Amino acid sequence: MSYDYEKVEMPGDGQKIEVVDEDNDELDVPETPIIPIVHGDGIGTDVGPAAQTVLEAAANATGRDIAWMRVFAGESAREKYDENLPDDTVTAIDEHRVAIKGPLTTPVGAGFRSLNVALRQTLDFYSNVRPTYYLDGVPSPMKAPEEMDMITFRENTEDVYAGIEWEAGTEEVKKVRNFVEEEMGFGETMHDGPIGIGIKPITEFGSKRLVRKAIDYAIEHDRDKVTLVGKGNIMKFTEGQFTEWGMEVAQEEYDDEEVFAAPDSLWEERDDIDVPEDAVMVEERLADAMLQWIQLRTDEFSVLAMPNLNGDYLSDAAGAQIGGLGIAPGANFGDARVLAEPVHGSAPKHAGQDKANPTAMILSGRLMFDYMGWDDAADLVRDAVEETISSGTVTYDLERQLADAEKLSTTEYTAAIVEHIEKLA
Ligand code: NAP
Repeated sequence: MSYDYEKVEMPGDGQKIEVVDEDNDELDVPETPIIPIVHGDGIGTDVGPAAQTVLEAAANATGRDIAWMRVFAGESAREKYDENLPDDTVTAIDEHRVAIKGPLTTPVGAGFRSLNVALRQTLDFYSNVRPTYYLDGVPSPMKAPEEMDMITFRENTEDVYAGIEWEAGTEEVKKVRNFVEEEMGFGETMHDGPIGIGIKPITEFGSKRLVRKAIDYAIEHDRDKVTLVGKGNIMKFTEGQFTEWGMEVAQEEYDDEEVFAAPDSLWEERDDIDVPEDAVMVEERLADAMLQWIQLRTDEFSVLAMPNLNGDYLSDAAGAQIGGLGIAPGANFGDARVLAEPVHGSAPKHAGQDKANPTAMILSGRLMFDYMGWDDAADLVRDAVEETISSGTVTYDLERQLADAEKLSTTEYTAAIVEHIEKLA
């Protein structure tokens, strides 16, 4: 039975994207797919419409169209539905398989669960994907920013983000403390006095399906290496397990000529590892070392897969090397479903001023096109953004870091990209 949307205006034309094979991420994408879009809170009201305009222009320039289905979450949903995440929105994203959203505000404080985390968990978007690559003309603190071409697969549902934690002073935290100290024998480990306790669950199921996604991506996109990043020397039974299970996927689920699981890679130099020609090498590295290597040995890394918190830190650090938050795109992948979203938040102090940089949300749309098999439209979006930036026409955040650039509003910058799309098509 089909769902009856309460307050969503259905697009007049357009067809639903259908699933052909859920396990292999295979979709049947019509020429005019219906794509749900959440503009988002704060600067989402600026960058959401900008992304919509650019993506539609790229679709049109490659002989297609998009039937946008505007749905609501966060502030806009509270106005319309009196709730943060209405069923209409969750169902639209669920049943249309491909969607894009802007940032949502999460007020700090108890009792307000992150809507982003709720959406990812409800619809099982278990892998958060963040590509970091250099666009010509973007200011960077690095000497050779063009060496950066990485894509991070961050586990999205487990780790300390699972939200299993207890507040200091509560009866619950006392119970957990007693259990850990008395029944589990860690009596000497924690200081006396008030304490907060959280749990870091990492499962075989969650780790393996994430690593599988990263390896499949590497094979499909001709990448030569997948690096599993954990802090297994200290957190042996969580992060250590993650990398161990990841290596098992590499060893047991692929042919040797296709995927090579590098033994002892934790302590080996890459050049000392003998990899069969054309195989994707899967290796293991420690998280702290990786944070310096992405700066010092940038070109050695390609696809990275890691637990949730490592992924959050590492992808922000990588993003800073190639232009920062205004540029950094992302997407959440599940099985045969994608929800594209920029890495940045709602930056409330810049909201509604027509100044925010829409590049991150536009390039998130590029990832969505890539997932849909619209490679030509995806390339066009990237090329047009790059042409716009390298011509020295940028938004405030990049202009303040460049010597001779012209500062454009969000709307002017969006129009400039559309112009480049039309020229390049
Ligand atoms: P933020 O919204 O990402 O903004 C931090 C700063 O980054 C901004 O003040 C601005 O720097 C720069 N920035 C971010 N996006 C930009 C853009 N598109 N163009 C130009 N500059 C940009 O982080 P926050 O202030 O920590 O978080 C604000 C809210 O967003 C919080 O409620 C948080 O929970 C939420 N959040 C949501 C998501 C999501 O929806 N996925 C992700 C992260 C945070 P300058 O002021 O220096 O120019």
